[in-house]
Amino acid sequence: MDDKINVKENLSVVLDNIKEAALKAGRDPEDVTLIAVTKTKPFEMLMEAYDYGIRDFGENKVQDLVAKWELAPKDSRFHMIGHLQKNKVKYLIGKVFLIHGVDSYELAEEIEKQSAKGNCVTDILIEVNVAEEESKFGIKCSEALDLVKKISLLPHVHIKGLMTIAPYVESDEENRQYFVDLRQLLIDIASENINNVDMSVLSMGMTGDYRVAVSEGATYVRVGTGIFGERNYAKE
Ligand SMILES: *Cc1c(COP(=O)(O)O)cnc(C)c1O
Repeated sequence: MDDKINVKENLSVVLDNIKEAALKAGRDPEDVTLIAVTKTKPFEMLMEAYDYGIRDFGENKVQDLVAKWELAPKDSRFHMIGHLQKNKVKYLIGKVFLIHGVDSYELAEEIEKQSAKGNCVTDILIEVNVAEEESKFGIKCSEALDLVKKISLLPHVHIKGLMTIAPYVESDEENRQYFVDLRQLLIDIASENINNVDMSVLSMGMTGDYRVAVSEGATYVRVGTGIFGERNYAKE
């Protein structure tokens, strides 16, 4: 099935769409980075994207991220975009470029502990469940400032911004308000000027809604299906 997927052609379309959405919104397209979500896909497909110039890759399982990190050229950046269990943090430290889904102080504490041990600082995003969907991880908007303040005191953890996974919807416009809300939350937290906190990253938008996310300020969009085709979980 994957044989029919033309990764380079798809990338060209996605990158054009990002550029167009950014320019339309009066933004510099350079301020938006595409994360190619390679989860469940073979390493060869990652390399096709790499050869096209992509350097940011998203995985949602620690084991898969580490396996691909070991094979990939060293200028690749691996993003942990899935829910992270505390007991797996130790495998990621020093390999992961950015952990997108931090939604508890306990998880941040474990990242602190393992980063201190590895003598490094780990960049993270706070995951906010803007739509308050019960099925999703992430904290509520109203809880974000307190969590950011608490985590900011951990010296080996550096908060770079916020992330959200918007609902699965028929029309991308349905998610616009969630992206607006996340951006506003980022601005509100930034205005607190908290030490060791850098509110410069907004990770939002997936295959179904990345254009709208870019028009509302996304600095990272995470696109899988639109580049590599449908994922076949049954095959695993
Ligand atoms: C799988 C995944 C994506 C990519 O989703 P697509 O709809 O395939 O583009 C983006 N973000 C997260 C957190 C994911 O788990």
